[in-house]
Amino acid sequence: MGEFVRPGGAVRTALVIGGGVAGPVVASALVKAGVEATVYEAYAEPADGVGGVLMVAPNGLNAFDAIGVGERVAEIGHPTTTMVMEDFRGRAVFAMPGLPGLPPSRTMWRPDLYRVLNAHAAETGVRVEYGKRIVDVRETPDDVTAVFADGTTATADVLIGADGIRSTVRTLVDPTAPGPEPVGLLGLGGHGPAVDGIGGSETMHFAQGRRAFFGYWADPDGGTLWFSNLPHQGALSMADARAVPGEEWLRRLRAAHEGDHPAEVLLAAAETVQVVGALEILPTIHRWYRGRMVLVGDAVHAPSASSGQGVSITVESAVQLARCLRDLPDLPRAFAAYERLRRPRVEKIVAGARRTNNTKAAGPVARTVNRVVSKALVPVLSRTVFSPERIFGEMHRHTIDWDARVTA
Ligand SMILES: Cc1cc2nc3c(=O)[nH]c(=O)nc-3n(C[C@H](O)[C@H](O)[C@H](O)COP(=O)(O)OP(=O)(O)OC[C@H]3O[C@@H](n4cnc5c(N)ncnc54)[C@H](O)[C@@H]3O)c2cc1C
Repeated sequence: MGEFVRPGGAVRTALVIGGGVAGPVVASALVKAGVEATVYEAYAEPADGVGGVLMVAPNGLNAFDAIGVGERVAEIGHPTTTMVMEDFRGRAVFAMPGLPGLPPSRTMWRPDLYRVLNAHAAETGVRVEYGKRIVDVRETPDDVTAVFADGTTATADVLIGADGIRSTVRTLVDPTAPGPEPVGLLGLGGHGPAVDGIGGSETMHFAQGRRAFFGYWADPDGGTLWFSNLPHQGALSMADARAVPGEEWLRRLRAAHEGDHPAEVLLAAAETVQVVGALEILPTIHRWYRGRMVLVGDAVHAPSASSGQGVSITVESAVQLARCLRDLPDLPRAFAAYERLRRPRVEKIVAGARRTNNTKAAGPVARTVNRVVSKALVPVLSRTVFSPERIFGEMHRHTIDWDARVTA
């Protein structure tokens, strides 16, 4: 059990709604700050078996360090030291090494991350209750009560909505808040045979195919892992996506990547495909908090998979929220400081992801123009605007000093 230091800040008890990434992290950080935190997760059991691969960037690893779990997170991931941008023939257009002085990003299976974070939270003294889907909330001047679908309730000083991109707490904070929007891309992925000449598992390849975007890298356990982003207009629910037979998805993928290397080879060998569904982004959320409720993680800023930053900025926000609650004497000041620390950074990252999504979803004409322009300009641009420091410096070099005091 962790030590329950008496907090000098605004709260003594917290309800944390959602046991994904933000939930266990903010709860562990709160316990470290002397606040008693309980996580309420909608699923009846830990979501250990759910999800695909994700990457945690150096800034995410730094934020994990603040709650003492950075090393364990790094251990479950494989280092990704280089990203290579390629044309549809598989020829490198430019390569981006990691930034000097920073640890490499880590690529890991989402279930492994959930398992490590929940184990760490339990060791810290966080209680997790499963099968608790929040449906409503009641507030008094002194406390806040979560009402769950099973009819039970829980009361504390503060309620933190860490319930993901389709957050219920977001609509309890502001019934007019927008929900996620499709970015015009479908995510699909799979595993294929080894491909010669692609280097080790620490090199990730991103290929701008003629009709769709393709990513691939050597699987440390053998073969090649790949994903494709197919342009797709409109929403597509997970249920609808999964209702389409795997063979049909493979047929569409093979048509989209015909003539692309090595996508064509990998897809010819593919027997199964994992359907991630329509990729989504969360538009600007105007109200991050109200009364005794506050949002964190994808519930308030979901930059879409293209950013590679979803987990990393989620963990940063979770740690910063805990610092604000630790150091400021009341909720209005703590929440305002939290929003001030986080909003500019996350909105910049979301805007960058939107631009990447637009490029990936471009039609055939725009793709051809992009290809011709990049061929002419990349040799020059890669020394200036495309330099790794220019692209990733601000994102990846961000650090959090847990011990520093937050002021209003
Ligand atoms: C295809 C895909 C690929 C991605 N790749 C990357 C990547 O490479 N790198 C990266 O950094 N990020 C990536 N992300 C984003 C990353 O997964 C999210 O940013 C991150 O999981 C956000 O954490 P969270 O805790 O806010 O939300 P989640 O992880 O979604 O957790 C929310 C939790 O809340 C629970 N919940 C929901 N509703 C309720 C309710 N009413 N009551 C109680 N509990 C509830 C859910 O069951 C869930 O456990 C990717 C996302 C997708 C979809």
